[in-house]
Amino acid sequence: MKGFNYKTATNTKDASKLASGRSIFLAGGMSLLPAMKLRLAAYSDLIDIKKIKGLSGIKVSSKSLRIGATTTHAEVASSKEVGKSIPSLAVLADGIGDPQVRNRGTIGGSIANNDPAADYPSACLALNATIHTNKRKIPADKFFKGIFETDLKKGELIEAVEFEVPEKSAYAKFPNPASRYAIVGVYVAKLKKELRVAITGVESCVFRCKKLEDALTTNFSPAAIDNVSISSKGFNSDNHASAEYRAHLIKVMTRKAVSSC
Ligand SMILES: Cc1cc2nc3c(=O)[nH]c(=O)nc-3n(C[C@H](O)[C@H](O)[C@H](O)COP(=O)(O)OP(=O)(O)OC[C@H]3O[C@@H](n4cnc5c(N)ncnc54)[C@H](O)[C@@H]3O)c2cc1C
Repeated sequence: MKGFNYKTATNTKDASKLASGRSIFLAGGMSLLPAMKLRLAAYSDLIDIKKIKGLSGIKVSSKSLRIGATTTHAEVASSKEVGKSIPSLAVLADGIGDPQVRNRGTIGGSIANNDPAADYPSACLALNATIHTNKRKIPADKFFKGIFETDLKKGELIEAVEFEVPEKSAYAKFPNPASRYAIVGVYVAKLKKELRVAITGVESCVFRCKKLEDALTTNFSPAAIDNVSISSKGFNSDNHASAEYRAHLIKVMTRKAVSSC
């Protein structure tokens, strides 16, 4: 890791002012610091946003659940509000990495990073989330653009993620046994007006699967997807799982999620 300046922002205005040139926001540092240590990325200034008041915390209403950007995975996993309104989200947060990662890593950092195998992006798509930044509100459907790429502009800070409270939902993950990142993760959510199925770990970016959504809209049961065929074309293939195995796992994880809804 090369040298860099460490700066602390105490409010969002400060944070965006400091975000110029080769600077970058630092939240939990769980993805950014390893990337810098491995020299996959280099920045002149790290702007720590963890001390900004109001960026952390959980607020719930009958229709939505709003989680501040610097709220850690451990806080989401243990939150009574999350457990009551969207229990599947608490389950997801509890399955991220290990206790160290869960106590440092943040929801804002996870979705800004948009790792192709990260868990939260699937929750955002399935639960029709809105990403609140210091500049605008971005629907999750428009937020995740590609591998480690989002719709965020330079200096744009995520303030909170607002999830629609579903009628039913569940997340099923086949995790990498070492890191716990998703080899395949499927988030199923029955919302008031539609049913969504979002998949992570399988392509370069999280995506919704229309075939599964259509089948489950017609009949919300594990058997409803028996005749759905999932092509492995374009799926990731690596040491952990071939593209064909990932296609198989999508159906297994979808059935598991639907059964536990
Ligand atoms: C060993 C290990 C295992 C892991 N396992 C999993 C897993 O099973 N599932 C999973 O989903 N993830 C996993 N992770 C990733 C973890 O969830 C990280 O918390 C997450 O990817 C990044 O969050 P962070 O707060 O640490 O962000 P940082 O590393 O600080 O930042 C990551 C990126 O997001 C940007 N950023 C951060 N906050 C904001 C914000 N509010 N607005 C705009 N940009 C922002 C930063 O500038 C940077 O580009 C793992 C990580 C490790 C090291």
